Amino acid sequence: MSEHITIAGAGLAGSLLSIYLARRGYAVTVFERRPDLREHELDAGRSINLALANRGLRALEAVGLADDVQRLLIPMQGRMLHEAGANPVLQPYGKDTHEVIYSISRPGLNALLLNVAEQHGVDIRFNQTLTELNPAEGLLSLKDRASGDSYTHTAHPLIATDGSSSLSRRTLGFMPGNSSAEEYLQHGYKELTIPAGPGSTFLIDKNALHVWPRSGYMLIALPNLDGSFTVTLFMPREGDVSFESLNTESNVADFFARIFPDAKALMPDLCTEFFENPTGRLVTVRCKPWHHNDKVLLLGDAAHAIVPFHGQGMNCAFEDCYIFDQILAKGTPESPDWRAVFALFEARRRNNANAIADLALDNYIVMRSSVRDPRFHLRKALSFELERRFPAKFIPRYSMVMFHHVPYAAALERGEIQERLLEQLIGAHENLDHVDYKYAEHLLDTELGEVPVGD
Ligand SMILES: Cc1cc2nc3c(=O)[nH]c(=O)nc-3n(C[C@H](O)[C@H](O)[C@H](O)COP(=O)(O)OP(=O)(O)OC[C@H]3O[C@@H](n4cnc5c(N)ncnc54)[C@H](O)[C@@H]3O)c2cc1C
Repeated sequence: MSEHITIAGAGLAGSLLSIYLARRGYAVTVFERRPDLREHELDAGRSINLALANRGLRALEAVGLADDVQRLLIPMQGRMLHEAGANPVLQPYGKDTHEVIYSISRPGLNALLLNVAEQHGVDIRFNQTLTELNPAEGLLSLKDRASGDSYTHTAHPLIATDGSSSLSRRTLGFMPGNSSAEEYLQHGYKELTIPAGPGSTFLIDKNALHVWPRSGYMLIALPNLDGSFTVTLFMPREGDVSFESLNTESNVADFFARIFPDAKALMPDLCTEFFENPTGRLVTVRCKPWHHNDKVLLLGDAAHAIVPFHGQGMNCAFEDCYIFDQILAKGTPESPDWRAVFALFEARRRNNANAIADLALDNYIVMRSSVRDPRFHLRKALSFELERRFPAKFIPRYSMVMFHHVPYAAALERGEIQERLLEQLIGAHENLDHVDYKYAEHLLDTELGEVPVGD
């Protein structure tokens, strides 16, 4: 097949997409701004591990990567809640022990995808920055960071996976009639480390996502294969308790000693890391359209960056790749009508991307605050009970997002109705002894109907 596709950005989405396209017989060239991460250490401050869930796993398995990815995974059964002065408590994510999410190394996964892409003949060119895009012509201006030389490249077409600060998206966003909104959260994040114990042992439970919820802010920790944990502090950027106010080593040490004493005891380099690592920004991107004619398509964070609190940004980007491939397969992959393919892709994905953006923002409140409320635990217990009794009619919102392929927009819509029904069934009670499950089933039938199968 002679069709040639250009990709901008060899991050998680671009490198996986290139594998899908190469497997369909396309010639693929990828331009990546950074040096090859297999030879250079990743910048400090980028999240070095991520939560991988069902949607992402399915997309990796579909290109034959199940075994390779399996080796990189650490299962996390639930949230381990650390309240001050109490023993940590595990709050399982799913209705049974099969429903887990996984911690995976970002550079490890990205390196695997780059290796496999190259094995499939993808031409990946590192240190090449996209500096300008002419969407009407599909014309890219690029700069070689090693030589400083600038040159042009014509794409037929360009799929832009250049991440949350995408130059491609901003270019499309400036075109008449188009829109592109980047909404920055008032909270930022800082990455820290709990190193491994002697002999690469894990100093806190390996199979959990640890959370220190403190209502206005929180600390989380995800395990790495070497026994360490990547710890992330999420808090307001400015204000009384904020990154701005934690401005000296003694402020940081005092704050952690008061608020996160058990975590502090495990972080010998806390103060050094705190001031060496950048404070990251968190953005939600909503834009339209995602494509320009048959020339340019945005995919992954470039189209729909979201805040990380549902652990779905990468999963959503991988689901994009899976669905893009499905759409290609249903047409005439040997000579696709790119405009039609791009329009169909956008029609299937944009509402869903906006929905997971909302779900992710909401989950910040769940993680830092709702998990501390006994009523939240009661609703969760009833959710699992309803799911056990009526699996075709009720799946908890978190589970629809993490363990199923229910479209995000349906998960958002059903989730809102479900919350109301759970409140109605619990009423003023403090336990579930009184719940009338016949009536519950009636409510599910009349208000929800069957859970949609999904994409
Ligand atoms: C703190 C944090 C925690 C997160 N945790 C999770 C999680 O647990 N689970 C999850 O699913 N998601 C998580 N995410 C989201 C996830 O990181 C992103 O959704 C994912 O990386 C998107 O992949 P992408 O390929 O679209 O973008 P990226 O991975 O950002 O890749 C974009 C690539 O494009 C390149 N590029 C950019 N501009 C140019 C240019 N002009 N020219 C050439 N190349 C360019 C970049 O160098 C980069 O390699 C998290 C995000 C953050 C910030």
